[in-house]
Amino acid sequence: MIDIFIDEEKCTGCGECIRVCPKGPRIYRLVKKNGKLVSEVLDKSFCIGCTTCIASCRPGAIRLERGW
Ligand code: SF4
Ligand code: SF4
Repeated sequence: MIDIFIDEEKCTGCGECIRVCPKGPRIYRLVKKNGKLVSEVLDKSFCIGCTTCIASCRPGAIRLERGW
């Protein structure tokens, strides 16, 4: 099982993670928190661990942890 963490301080809400992820809208969605648009993990179970989202997130707001 892979865990996905978003650093909401760093996230700019650009939506790139949703665009580039092969399972984008199943895993991520943009939500407004404290007046700021940020990415939120909806369902990490779809993640295949390709790390494309990490490579595409300019502020480096995404972190993956592999639980195996
Ligand atoms: S790519 Fe990074 S900065 Fe952009 S919405 Fe996703 S987590 Fe946030
Ligand atoms: S590692 Fe790949 S499958 Fe998992 S959330 Fe990132 S882009 Fe999507």
